[in-house]
Amino acid sequence: SPIRHHNFCAGPAALPTAVLERARDEMLDYRGHGLSVMEMSHRSPEYVAIAEKAEADLRELLAIPANYKVLFTQGGATQQFAAVPYNLLGRGGSANFVDTGIWSRKAIAEARHLFGDVRVAASSEADGNTAVPRPEQLEFSGDAAYLHYTANETIGGLAFDYIPGSEGGGPRRPDGSEVPLVCDMSSSILSGPLDVSRFGIIYAGAQKNIGPAGLVVVIVREDLLDRARPDMPSLFGYKALAEAGSMVNTPATYSWYLAGLVFEWLKDDIGGLAAMEAINARKAAKLYAAIDASALYSNPIAPANRSRMNVPFVLADERLDKPFLAEAEQAGLLNLKGHRSVGGMRASLYNAVPEAAVDALIDFMADFENRRG
Ligand code: PMP
Repeated sequence: SPIRHHNFCAGPAALPTAVLERARDEMLDYRGHGLSVMEMSHRSPEYVAIAEKAEADLRELLAIPANYKVLFTQGGATQQFAAVPYNLLGRGGSANFVDTGIWSRKAIAEARHLFGDVRVAASSEADGNTAVPRPEQLEFSGDAAYLHYTANETIGGLAFDYIPGSEGGGPRRPDGSEVPLVCDMSSSILSGPLDVSRFGIIYAGAQKNIGPAGLVVVIVREDLLDRARPDMPSLFGYKALAEAGSMVNTPATYSWYLAGLVFEWLKDDIGGLAAMEAINARKAAKLYAAIDASALYSNPIAPANRSRMNVPFVLADERLDKPFLAEAEQAGLLNLKGHRSVGGMRASLYNAVPEAAVDALIDFMADFENRRG
């Protein structure tokens, strides 16, 4: 059988081997229908059944309440940086953001470019994005139409350890009304259980914990479907997507199918999101412990905000970066190079990265330090 290396890529990321095997087995002839899922009409009963099963399984995994729509759309999470303000600013008001790093800033820049009226409710920039702002530091404006934050900064390795707001919805304005909470969960969705009822909108690009690239999942509370700007590009519209079962036009059919296989794997092979979270907690704890115990490797993030999904670290002597990466690759440990904007290393430990891969990485790091550190 083929040799699969340990893949620590930040995205497109590792997929469960069991999912790829199933896709392989179903590739040429999907369950006796005599064609590949890639070749099916998205309106055919076979495909509609695939699409509906994927949504039902995602709803079950995340216990998504009935008053939320689930959309399977395209354009990457980046398109949502524009789609969210288009969908929520139709009644005026300003977009409020928590700035915790590069991905938050991209979302801020897009909203500002399109609509101008943007407010940064809190920022972690002053302390180098090593800790997320505390809840009491969030200062959103009285006319805030929503508050946007990035649950997990994929490049910085910085994760929220709380959900802004309170039970049963987003943060409150002084008059008690709700500011809908919008969250970019691209790099942390499905890493553990989630109280969806706290959010107005959750969106996530698929290529980390959901499936292949080309698909974006949006979870939106129904009462937010009527706030769109009239000048919105029609494919951005959550309401139209919801009414059409995400089939306003041809969806990313194969990525949607693969996402469905990942949801089945999470349910049946892993045993659900609580079990997934326990595995993820163990994987990340081991790697951070190894980094903290070493004289060569370091990670600057406040312990409470360390990401379980993306673990950036630097070597004390950056002249060792190149040999580290070359030797890691030789050892079958792929994609450990940090994002080009920050350098150093980054190990992404998404759901499909098995604990054995983390163990292999830790062994390699210790060995490298003994020889070269
Ligand atoms: N938000 C976050 C947190 C991300 O990690 C990424 C991609 N790495 C994006 C947004 C952009 O996603 P896409 O490439 O799907 O547009």
